[in-house]
Amino acid sequence: MLILYNPPSSARRKPVMPLALLALGALMEGRHEYAIVDGNLDTNALETIDRHVRDGARMLGITVMPGPQLADAVPLCRELKRRHPGLTIIWGGYFPTQHWDVCLKSGFVDYVVRGHGEVVFQSLVDRLASGENPTDLAGLAYRQADGLPFSNPTAPIPHPDLMPEFPYQRIDVRRYARKSFMGRRTLAHHSSYGCPFFCNFCAVVNMVGGRWLAQSAERTANVARRLVTDYGADAVEFYDNNFFVHEARTVDFAERILDLGIGWWGDSRIDTLLRYSDRSWRLMRDSGLRMVFMGAESGSDETLKRMNKGGSASTDKTLAMAEKAREYGIVPEFSFVLGNPPDPEGDVRGTLEFIRKVKRVNPHTEIIMYVYTPVPLAGELYDQAKAEGFAFPETLDEWVSGDWQDFAQRRSAQIPWLDDPLRRHLRDFERVLSAYYPTITNPSLHGVRRFVLRAASAWRYHLGFYRYPYELRPLQRLLAYQRPETCGF
Ligand code: SF4
Repeated sequence: MLILYNPPSSARRKPVMPLALLALGALMEGRHEYAIVDGNLDTNALETIDRHVRDGARMLGITVMPGPQLADAVPLCRELKRRHPGLTIIWGGYFPTQHWDVCLKSGFVDYVVRGHGEVVFQSLVDRLASGENPTDLAGLAYRQADGLPFSNPTAPIPHPDLMPEFPYQRIDVRRYARKSFMGRRTLAHHSSYGCPFFCNFCAVVNMVGGRWLAQSAERTANVARRLVTDYGADAVEFYDNNFFVHEARTVDFAERILDLGIGWWGDSRIDTLLRYSDRSWRLMRDSGLRMVFMGAESGSDETLKRMNKGGSASTDKTLAMAEKAREYGIVPEFSFVLGNPPDPEGDVRGTLEFIRKVKRVNPHTEIIMYVYTPVPLAGELYDQAKAEGFAFPETLDEWVSGDWQDFAQRRSAQIPWLDDPLRRHLRDFERVLSAYYPTITNPSLHGVRRFVLRAASAWRYHLGFYRYPYELRPLQRLLAYQRPETCGF
């Protein structure tokens, strides 16, 4: 028997369905006995897994993102290995894909499946179950006889249209329905893998190497329909890296769900959506597209170039997108990566000015600000980070220490080129901005509450005086402001 475990990802928001485990489970159906344990719902996952192992489970597969998931997975796996040395522990997901050697050096991770590893995972489980040696599998990293970690080349990405349907019956789907800006009962799906671009700050590139493979519009629409009819959803969030790559697929999907009356959300590039026709925009709006997440990244065209943002990304296009989305009543959610080397201060100040411009064009734009954190990808940004003295931890214990946990959530003090005053300036700006433009995605921030926040912050915003906004903090707490990047929409 096999256990698939999803470590808790955030205590502050209702969890999203464990899509990665459902994808793995789909390939296990009828092949291996398995159970899904979700640490977001099970507050004593260690004992639940322990029970399964005592009942005969021999393998544990875990999906691990940096941050809270890693912080949970490290002590849990160490303890399970101590209790059950014969248990085979397999890690997969963003973190192990990039830092597979650190995972294997821990001694309690036996195998790492790198990239989109559903098929590799299935082959690994097949081999282990039948006592065969799996070490020639593409996409697998393991410890060699001398104890040193070794990784085979990554495997091709499986086509999501060729993957079986998710075994929703294995989880209590209704427990994942959450209230969001899109609807009262929002559920999630993943309709495509990867992204055809190579931005050099983005962990997706290491996972997929520039490939994008998608389920057909028909299948994607059928999933949405099933979530509505079988599980009562009134909104769907698509956790694709880039949902909108192919205009014809988006349009076909939008047409197929017109009758559902749901709200939906996805992730795109600005330049891609700007190329869509007006008819496509109308269809997206009419089918319920409420908000789109887009990486605006920077207020400087030069930085966009350095990020290898690719395509035809530019600051003019970001402004054009803010305008276009306003025209169609769809909320653009722009993320920015600030503090990029080699001139983090200039970068921060320039981008903050640009954000003010964006807000003038479309005050409903949601702004998500992240501090630049390197990913191990060849390119000017990472090279400069290394030159400034940046180095990743070499052990999992270091990774789960306080500072590196902050790093994983892009709040770190581990970034040598970003000093404290600059970090504080960023935080202060964010506080003033979110008070002057209260998010429209938080239903409790309306009427008088909005007015109070705006009135209290107007002088600061107009004078560009963001320092020490102590008076705004209690006000925002009192009026239930939520940071979208930690609480979601
Ligand atoms: S377009 Fe977005 S998902 Fe694709 S590589 Fe760039 S940042 Fe990553």
